[in-house]
Amino acid sequence: MDNNNQSMLHIGILSSPGIGHIIPSLLLANRLAGVHNVKLTVFVITTADSPTERQLLESSDLTSRLNNVGIPPVDISALLDANTKPVAQLCLLVRAALPGVRAALTKQCRRLDALVVDFFCTEALPMADELNLPKFVYVPTNARFTALTVYCPVLDREIVGQYVEQEKGLEIPGCKPVRPEDVVDPMLDRNDVQYREYLRLGVGFGMADGILMNTWEDIDPVTLKALRENEPLSKVVGKPVYAIGPLTRNIEERDGDDGTMIMQWLHKQPRESVLYVSFGSGGTLSAEQITELAWGLELSEQRFIWVVRPPSMRGSDDAFFTTGQGADGTPNYLPEGFNTRTQNQGLVVPMWAEQALILRHPSTGGFLSHCGCNSTLESIKNGVPIIAWPLYSEQRQNATLLTEEVGVAIRPMKLPTKGIVTREEVKTLVKIMLQSKKGKEMRERVVKLKMSSEKAISIGGSSYNSMCEVLNAIEKRRDLKICTQI
Ligand code: UDP
Repeated sequence: MDNNNQSMLHIGILSSPGIGHIIPSLLLANRLAGVHNVKLTVFVITTADSPTERQLLESSDLTSRLNNVGIPPVDISALLDANTKPVAQLCLLVRAALPGVRAALTKQCRRLDALVVDFFCTEALPMADELNLPKFVYVPTNARFTALTVYCPVLDREIVGQYVEQEKGLEIPGCKPVRPEDVVDPMLDRNDVQYREYLRLGVGFGMADGILMNTWEDIDPVTLKALRENEPLSKVVGKPVYAIGPLTRNIEERDGDDGTMIMQWLHKQPRESVLYVSFGSGGTLSAEQITELAWGLELSEQRFIWVVRPPSMRGSDDAFFTTGQGADGTPNYLPEGFNTRTQNQGLVVPMWAEQALILRHPSTGGFLSHCGCNSTLESIKNGVPIIAWPLYSEQRQNATLLTEEVGVAIRPMKLPTKGIVTREEVKTLVKIMLQSKKGKEMRERVVKLKMSSEKAISIGGSSYNSMCEVLNAIEKRRDLKICTQI
């Protein structure tokens, strides 16, 4: 099953822009290169003005053994207006970049044996056909997201009115019904352009020869079984689905960077005593919510590391603005004197921290997270339970899976996007996580899940074997091509 003894395959991976998309594509590439001895060329559609993306693509831990091809950034500003939502923007950006993708692929095609595209790039799949390459879609998140996305065109025909206004959960054959409030962002408003784009993405999955997902059998066996066996869902999917994860980032601690100050502080804290608070690469909260969260952390009297960002106007995933700070360095969007009062309790880190290092540290005992797909897996892989604070995208679905089925998370009573989570509730959640029997039980469950995830990706594990199946399929196709050429 392993590719080690056969002539080296060469796979192209096409990634859409955004840290949350580029990281999983690079992780997949590294996995294929490092464990399965495959040669990789990664084509990355970048955003013109993103220093974080540039930095990531230059970071040696994820890119050193890959051949990276940057697709020239495109300017889509003329296509956007104030109402263009993130998924629509991303789809427009990918579409505008397609000529660049075509040029790059054509240049490399003689060397490639297959193309894998992330799920925002399914419009590039016909190019693989033109180049006679087997083609796969990579979903960096879980089976539930895949089921909802491929089945949404059916729901579109069956359901009248807005999904969020339905009284019952949305039925997907063989799967747990999706609570109306948990639908992914583009399903929130069926009249918006981004809903049409999302439907198109779901249909696009069907063009691939297979669907790869960054998940593993044990975390959601019910949905995986349904995707494979339960008609009509399995018929709609129509292609093999492969659980090949969880693939997460593993960074080594370096001397002399900002991380060191955080690490030094963490080294001094008791085991499993620190709550790490972060909302992904772009998540922000409203000014009022930041205030409540700050007070909640302070009142909990528990240790914390909080990656803070200035408030957004909409409490969503964008709209940063710059602000000043008080005499003690407290940014003026935090309660006055917060830094002074919490100086022995926690760390406030502006904008960005090396999350992979923090989650791996033994002093970290909980993660207040927006439940982005990477953050969720990183938390599980490090055995850290979660306070689920979903904001956008598919995070509400992730939060439900983690809280209600896997039992490794707790969450506020109401969705943070539907109202303010008060300081009292924050304080209670933090104390449950770090101080209670329930917190301890969650930690035990997440450690078991971590072990099952490690088993899945180890040699001979379910995810390892799934990846081998994909590689075998690619190899068969290559051999056939060679035969017909002879
Ligand atoms: N991340 C990080 N430091 C931060 C914020 C995010 O290292 O301060 C990394 C995090 O480890 C994860 C990725 O950025 O790998 C965020 O991806 P995720 O899917 O969790 O959320 P998104 O940014 O897509 O909303």
